[in-house]
Amino acid sequence: MPNSIRRRCPCTHCQVRGLVGPILLITLGAIFLVAKFTRYGFGQLWPVLLLVGGILALCQATASRSGHIGSSGQE
Ligand SMILES: [Zn+2]
Repeated sequence: MPNSIRRRCPCTHCQVRGLVGPILLITLGAIFLVAKFTRYGFGQLWPVLLLVGGILALCQATASRSGHIGSSGQE
């Protein structure tokens, strides 16, 4: 994948979208750590993923699209 060729859009909306995956992975890792070292299990902690995902979706929906570069593909 030639990622260096692809231009990165500088608008806030696209920057937030680029953070969704890493933040969800970090949250998932944190949940597993908490589940391992506390008495709370993954079964009790998984709704945190919904909360974080919802907050990120809210941030993305309200983020400014000014300066958005229409990249290839509809996203
Ligand atoms: Zn953009």
